[in-house]
Amino acid sequence: MSSYWSDFVKDLEPYSPGEQPDIGNITKLNTNENPYGPSPALLEAVRNQLNDDLRLYPPPAALRLKQVIADYYQLSTEQVFVGNGSDEVLAHVFNGLLNHREKGPLLFPDISYSFYPVYCQLYDISFEKIPLSEDFCIGLEDYKRPNGGIIFPNPNAPTGMLLGLEAIENFLQCSQQSVVVIDEAYIDFGGQTAASLIDQYSNLLVVQSMSKSRSLAGMRIGYAMGSAELIAGLERIKNSFNSYPLGHLQIAAAIASFEDEDYFQKTRQLVISERQRLTAQLERLGFEVLPSQANFVFTRHPHQSAEELASRLRELGIVVRHFKQPRIQDFLRITVGDESQNSLLIDALKSIVSD
Ligand SMILES: *Cc1c(COP(=O)(O)O)cnc(C)c1O
Repeated sequence: MSSYWSDFVKDLEPYSPGEQPDIGNITKLNTNENPYGPSPALLEAVRNQLNDDLRLYPPPAALRLKQVIADYYQLSTEQVFVGNGSDEVLAHVFNGLLNHREKGPLLFPDISYSFYPVYCQLYDISFEKIPLSEDFCIGLEDYKRPNGGIIFPNPNAPTGMLLGLEAIENFLQCSQQSVVVIDEAYIDFGGQTAASLIDQYSNLLVVQSMSKSRSLAGMRIGYAMGSAELIAGLERIKNSFNSYPLGHLQIAAAIASFEDEDYFQKTRQLVISERQRLTAQLERLGFEVLPSQANFVFTRHPHQSAEELASRLRELGIVVRHFKQPRIQDFLRITVGDESQNSLLIDALKSIVSD
C-alpha cells in the first residue's frame, strides 16, 4: 500500500490471471491456450509486416480487419468493434453499455468469468450474481427482472456448459429493454454463435476472442459484434481511451487467421476430439466431468481434494487451475492439450488417484 495511491486504487481488487511459468518443460493446462500454434500462413503474414511501416501508427479503425470479420459473420463493418484482447473489449462494454444503475443491477451468473466483478468495481457498476442451478446450468428465466444489463459467457466459464441458440433467442424475445452481452470466448469449440441474431436484436452484443480457438493469446485480439448503435457507443469509449488498440502485427495476424479457414477448422476439430478422449479417460478414473463445449473440462473426483490434486500435479510438472470459491472448490479446470499433453495428464492422475 503506497501513500502515492489514490483511495480508489487502494480499494481495487484486481483480477488474478492463471500463472505463466517461466520455466520450460512444463505441461501448461491452466489458461485455456490452444495447444496447436497459429498456422504457417499466419506466421508468414506477420513476418511480412515486420518492415519500415512499424514507424507509422496503425489504422485507428482497423477497417480492413473489421471488413474481414464482418464478411465472416455476414455483418457490416458498422456492426464490428475490435480491441486489444476481448478483455479490453469487455472493459469498454462494462464502462459504456452495462452501467445503468437507474434501471437496476447488472446481472451475471454466480459461477462465471471472474473478471466481471473486477470491471464492476473499476467502473462502479452495481451488480447481482444469479446462482446457476444445482447442476450448473444458467437458467435464463432467473434473469427476467429489473436490471441494468445482462452478461454471461457461452459456453460458460469455468463450467464449459453451453446454452443452445434457441434458448438464447427465446430469452432475447422477452428482454429487449436490456443490453444483453454474450461472451463467446469458447464458442468455436462446439457451440453456435449468436452473431446470426444481431440483425434482429439491436440490444444484443456478442464478444469473441482470438486467444483460444485461433491460437493467438499472445497477440491480444478480441472483437464485439452488435447493432451499429451499440458499436458506436463502444467506439466513443475506445476513442476516449486509446485510439490504436491494435498494432500492425496484430491486424495482420487477425486477418491471416480468418483467411486460413482450413487450418482453423482442422485445429478446432482436433481440440474437440481430444476433449472427448480426455473426458472419457477422466471418467474411467472415477472423475465426474461436466459436459463441456469449450477447450477445457471442469471435473471433480469423489474422494480427492481438488487443491491436493492440483498440487500433486504441479510436483509432476503439470499446471491446472483450481478456484478457491464456494460451490466449485472441489473442481479442477483443465485445458484440453494436444494428444501427448493429455496422455501425460492422464498418466499422472492415474498414479495420484491409485496411491
Ligand atoms: C479468455 C477469456 C476472455 C479473454 O480473452 P482475451 O481475448 O485473451 O482477452 C474473456 N472471456 C472469457 C470467458 C474468457 O475465458
